Order: sequence, then structure tokens, then C-alpha cells
Amino acid sequence: MAELLDTIIVGAGFSGLAAARLLQKENKKFIVLEARDRVGGRTHTRYLKDQMYVDLGGQWIGPTQDRMYELAKECGINWYNTYNEGKNILDLNKTIRTYTGLIPKMDVLSLINIDYVLKKLDRMAKRIPLDKPWLAPQAKTWDSLTLEAFVRKHCYTANCYKVVRAGLETVYASELNEVSLLHALFYIRSGTNLNCLLSIDNGAQQHRIKGGMQTLAEAVAKPFYELIKFNCPVKRIIQQTDTVSVEGDGFSFQAKKVIMAIPPVLINHIEFTPALPMYKSQLIQKLSMGIVGKVFGVYEKPFWRNQGFSGQVVADEHAPFQTFFDSSPADSSYGVLLAFCIADRARAFFANDESTRKKIALEAFGKYFGKEATQPVHYIDHCWADEAWSRGCYAGLYPAGAWTNFQNTLAQPTGSIHWAGTETADVWYGYIEGAVRAGERAANEILKGRV
Ligand SMILES: Cc1cc2nc3c(=O)[nH]c(=O)nc-3n(C[C@H](O)[C@H](O)[C@H](O)COP(=O)(O)OP(=O)(O)OC[C@H]3O[C@@H](n4cnc5c(N)ncnc54)[C@H](O)[C@@H]3O)c2cc1C
Repeated sequence: MAELLDTIIVGAGFSGLAAARLLQKENKKFIVLEARDRVGGRTHTRYLKDQMYVDLGGQWIGPTQDRMYELAKECGINWYNTYNEGKNILDLNKTIRTYTGLIPKMDVLSLINIDYVLKKLDRMAKRIPLDKPWLAPQAKTWDSLTLEAFVRKHCYTANCYKVVRAGLETVYASELNEVSLLHALFYIRSGTNLNCLLSIDNGAQQHRIKGGMQTLAEAVAKPFYELIKFNCPVKRIIQQTDTVSVEGDGFSFQAKKVIMAIPPVLINHIEFTPALPMYKSQLIQKLSMGIVGKVFGVYEKPFWRNQGFSGQVVADEHAPFQTFFDSSPADSSYGVLLAFCIADRARAFFANDESTRKKIALEAFGKYFGKEATQPVHYIDHCWADEAWSRGCYAGLYPAGAWTNFQNTLAQPTGSIHWAGTETADVWYGYIEGAVRAGERAANEILKGRV
């Protein structure tokens, strides 16, 4: 008869790995079942020749993401500052302007308006109780509106709307009409404030992991690597009185408890017996993923720095990409320009074949950073909506009505099954920090019997 495990963890992203780490510390018998052939999930470093790499998925950490810094320290992994010096570029109405600091060069009225909209969102976000967003004072009203409706109402100039939209699309990885205003506010509060979400210095984009985020995922997994079963997509979960069977093609494992650490969109692909409670199953059907592609030019040197550019761009809907960053490694031994291609722009861009995408991308790179930018050593683009085991990114999004109608049903245990993943986090929802916190919370529910 097969061994009865204490716990089976489904998913070896940061959330599953964080749960496994805690269970191992308590000498629990567990395994991790992972559909892919690697750890890291929505974080993935692609290694190129000559020790070059790019982070296709999650790559930044920043202040108040305390668990990430602690994990990195415990694993002996270093981090470094994101390059943030020089002139930024604003591509607005097909005109390119450069500026330094935080304030773009544009008409004063639009600048005042941008400041007003962002501050208003921050003020409203402060009123969201993180553990119960549906109890915010105006939760029902805010949850019946989209973020788009709010932004349209409060952006009085076209230029304000264009800049705010490009910034917020980069934060949520979706069109603004796909997100409930209440969820947008919860997300802001969950990640401290909007300034933090949008910034490099003192913000969510402040630091990179040396060697790429994969280095950290692998270091976290190292002590229990032999307990991770790769290429094992879970298809059925059967709860009996004292045990749970977790099954897929050619495997079946039994445990007293299960931790689910996969994106919500993939949960409904698993057959549960008994079926998941109606509330959870209905909520899962509503949480669709955002869509984001990363587009990289890798160069022998970060040449734009010598020309006084930071590598940062914000571009309106006329351009193929919303935002750009300098994503070069710690020692700047080569240069990486990273463009974010999000929502409708991603759907349009990734409908093209690779050579057309490369042509469109390099034209944009050249427009901002000159001829050298059109001749990268490597061109790479990657759309997370194409990945069967993610189906989009950065995270599942609550549409209008979902928070107030379903509350935090997603994180609630169902019998012997506990629920992790960044979408169950109160703090840093949608980020790697949230994934780690959620994994640790689910493990502690089992270890300490706390729910
Ligand atoms: C382009 C991009 C940029 C991002 N940028 C940042 C950033 O800079 N900073 C940041 O903090 N966050 C960022 N994020 C978000 C961050 O990567 C995620 O929030 C986080 O990695 C989610 O971790 P998770 O463990 O909850 O889920 P996942 O990483 O999705 O892990 C789930 C795992 O479950 C596996 N799985 C799925 N279904 C099954 C099944 N049926 N059976 C077995 N295994 C299964 C998957 O293969 C996966 O490995 C970004 C994401 C993307 C894609």
C-alpha cells in the first residue's frame, strides 16, 4: 500500500515552495507535484549564451516585501539596484519628449490632473481593510464600477488619461475595464500605495535578484528538491474521510492534507470529488488572468546610459508597448532593454508571427534609443497567456461584483484542502511576496491548526 503523506502540495511556484519549506522545517512528510519541468511558475529566468540571462516573469522586489528579502538572505542570494538614472522618455500623441525625475514634460493642466487622480486612488485605497475588502465603506459602489469608469470620470484632459492609463495597465496587466474599482483599490493597498507600485526607488521595482529570479526559486527548493515530482499535472483530487487522493496520468498519491498553490484559472481544470463548494467554484470562474508579454533587446553594453538615458519609457496607445525599463544585470556587463506589452496591445502584438513581432519591436526600440537599439545580440519576446500552466499574468483579477458577492472564498479551506497562491494573499496580492506569504499561511493552517 502507498505511503500516507502528511501533505501534498500542488504547484512549485514561489507559493508552493514557501509552504514546502515550512513543512520541511517541521519534519513533515510531503511531496510537491508540479506540472512543468521546473520550479518558479510565473517566475522564469531564460539563460542565453555567454552567461547572459533575462527574467521572463516576475523579476523585481522592493521595500515592505520583507519575506522576499529574508528568503534571499537565508538562501545566500544577493540583490542589486535597478538602474534609475538619466533622462526618461514620454511618447505621447506620436511625439517623443524627454524628462528627468518623476514629472514628465507636458501641459501643466494634465500634470495637475495626473497628480489628482493618483492621489485620489491612494486616498480611497487607504480605506480598504485588507483582510475584508468587501467591508470598505463604499465597497458595493466601488465594486459595481470598473477602474476604467473611475479613470475616465476623473481624467479631465486627454493627455492625463493616456498617461494614467499606460501606468495603470502596467500595474494590473489588463485593460482598465477588466478590473473592478474595489479590486484595483485593494491591490494598491495590498502593495502599500500607488507610488510604491509605480516607482523604482522606494518602490516595487527597486531591486533585482542577482543571477535572475530562478536562482532564488531554485535555492528555496534545494533542500527538498528530490521531493518535487516534475511533469506531474494534477487532474483529480478525491477527498475521503481521513485522506485525500491526488491523481494524474500515471500517478496517485495519498495524504492527510493538500495545499493548492496554482493560479485560480487552472483550478477548474481539476476534477474534485466531492465537487468544490458552489461559492468557490463560481468565484474561480470569474477570476480571469491579465495578459502581459515581455519584450527584450539584449546588447553588448547598456549603450543608452552613455547617451544619458535611463532606459525608461511611458508610451500611449499609438505605440506597441506601454512601458520600458533598463533590465541589465548587476555588473552591467551587457545591456538589456525590457518593454512591457500589455492587454489589448499584447493581444494585437502577439497575434503576429515572430519575425513581424521582432520588426515592430525593434522599430520601437530604435525610435526611442537610436540605431544601436535596432541591432541587439538577442531579441526575445514571451507572452504568458500562451503558457498552459499559467494562462496569463501577473495574476487573477477580480471583475466588478466578485469581491462583494464572493468575499475571500478563494482562501477558505475546503475540508482537508488548503489554498495558497498569490491570489489568496492579503499583502502584496499578485506579487511574489504575496505568493510566499500565502504559501506560509496555508502551511501554518495545517501546522498550527489555525484557519
Ligand atoms: C511578466 C511577469 C512579470 C511579473 N513581474 C513581477 C515582479 O517584478 N515582481 C513580483 O513580485 N511579481 C511579479 N509578477 C507576478 C509573480 O511572478 C507572481 O505573482 C508569482 O510568481 C505567483 O506565484 P504563485 O506560486 O502564486 O503561482 P505560480 O508561480 O503560477 O505557481 C503555480 C505553479 O503551479 C503549477 N501548476 C499549475 N497547474 C498545475 C496542476 N494542475 N498540477 C500541478 N502543477 C500545476 C504551475 O506550473 C506553477 O509552477 C510577474 C509575473 C509575470 C508573468
